[in-house]
Amino acid sequence: MLDWNQIETVFFDMDGTLLDLHFDNYFWLDHLPKRYTELKNTSPEETKRRLHAMYDDHQGSLNWYCLDFWSAELDVDVVALKREVSSRISYRPNVQKFLKIIHDKGLDVAIVTNAHRDSVALKLELTDLGDYFDEIICSHDYNIPKEAPEFWTALQSKRPFNMNKTAFFDDNDAVLHSAKVFGIQYLYSIAQPDSQKQARSESEFPLVHDFMDLLI
Ligand SMILES: [Mg+2]
Repeated sequence: MLDWNQIETVFFDMDGTLLDLHFDNYFWLDHLPKRYTELKNTSPEETKRRLHAMYDDHQGSLNWYCLDFWSAELDVDVVALKREVSSRISYRPNVQKFLKIIHDKGLDVAIVTNAHRDSVALKLELTDLGDYFDEIICSHDYNIPKEAPEFWTALQSKRPFNMNKTAFFDDNDAVLHSAKVFGIQYLYSIAQPDSQKQARSESEFPLVHDFMDLLI
């Protein structure tokens, strides 16, 4: 499925690609609404109306991924609330096994995420992701989300990589599309980012079910 001899650099998204998106979906769609309703002494209906209007307004923007933004807008400590359910943070199947093999191949590997640094810090604290990656690139540091092709231009000028010899894995097809417009050669999407939801069967990009399949 992938000729590793052609690859020099491998970029991985974090949430929904390496880690189970269930944690994030559970937090934003269940836990945060529940706790917001309690903390603000409001009704579940009002919370739902308010949060969903905000989600609709900011999806795909840097604000969407920015915990400072949500903490300020909602006037709650989003990081503290995330910690309340952090036991749900987990890897997707076989990811650690795959990362160890990739790490041992001596390839240039990095996480490239839209996640906020506080979110990354929480996940580094509660998983051993840091054992496999020396470099975690956050789009916040560039002020451009991965959904914009300009992000990749900015990343490449700061941190050179050969786009013809780069593989990139992400569960977000809009992000993969921007990487394609920029010119990254080997692009893969994820069939089941959230273990609690149905796997997808269609995407513009080849779907990875299990990373170990890529080593066959
Ligand atoms: Mg993702």
